[in-house]
Amino acid sequence: MWGDKRYHTLNYELRKEFGQKVMKLSLDGGFTCPNRDGTIGHRGCVFCGEEGSGEFAGSRTLSIEEQIREQKKLLSNKWKTGKYIAYFQSFTNTYSAYEDLRKKYYSALSQEEIVGLAIATRPDCLSEDVLDLLTELNEKTYIWIELGLQTIHERTAKFIRRGYSLETYDIAIEKLKNKNIRVVTHLILGLPGESKDEILESVKYVANTNTWGVKFHLLYIQKGTDLYEYYLKNPFPILGRDEYISLVADSLELLPKEMVVHRVTGDGKKELLFEPRWSLDKLRVLSGIDKELKRRNSYQGLKY
Ligand code: SF4
Repeated sequence: MWGDKRYHTLNYELRKEFGQKVMKLSLDGGFTCPNRDGTIGHRGCVFCGEEGSGEFAGSRTLSIEEQIREQKKLLSNKWKTGKYIAYFQSFTNTYSAYEDLRKKYYSALSQEEIVGLAIATRPDCLSEDVLDLLTELNEKTYIWIELGLQTIHERTAKFIRRGYSLETYDIAIEKLKNKNIRVVTHLILGLPGESKDEILESVKYVANTNTWGVKFHLLYIQKGTDLYEYYLKNPFPILGRDEYISLVADSLELLPKEMVVHRVTGDGKKELLFEPRWSLDKLRVLSGIDKELKRRNSYQGLKY
């Protein structure tokens, strides 16, 4: 239905849009996060590592141009592609002065072969100035904004120290939608204390918002995070591989067909990953999801 997949992948969507494979280059724009600098919190989300969820991004000691050059070089060994999306991934990428944001976004866009921007941020970091800037960019190029919702459940949101309410997400998504800006919502499957039904409630909720895309993450425990310390003292159940695969298949069935699925598994750094170790075999998880959908004779949108 979507190439060789039973769900609407980002790869499929970008090929349709650009007529060829388009890769993302992960950048560190040198920003921080209000959930870490004391504005909202000091220690950040409980699972957030030192690199602000940008473990695979370029180095913040390099300029945007240098990071793009370096990342392109790394990818060119694997993919002979000429088109890239510059992905501002680490920390909160709309959390800075207007001029600084503008300079960094345009600097990325002005590099050769960059056809768009992806900007990861928080729904409480979209001031009117930022929205104007994003609107301007959206008229010039292909962009999307990523929001880390993770769960709709207030109890879990408190535990993970997300630092904003579901209503804040709803307002942000409406504002972005009104400007025709694409939004990608992140959800984490397997957060402590959440039942399968609760996880699927979050998926259903997101399926019915105006989000353009979704990213499913597996909860993974990374050394050096507060979640790691918590887990050592209060071990909680971690999803097994088959359980996770089944949950992703259930989730995909609940999404509308047009929703773009950016990710269906986690991506922890090998040396930092504590649990679940099975997630390191990403290909096995991906093919397990394909097999499970095939076994069920199912596909994205079946139960939407
Ligand atoms: S909002 Fe993002 S960068 Fe900020 S603490 Fe949470 S995960 Fe880390």
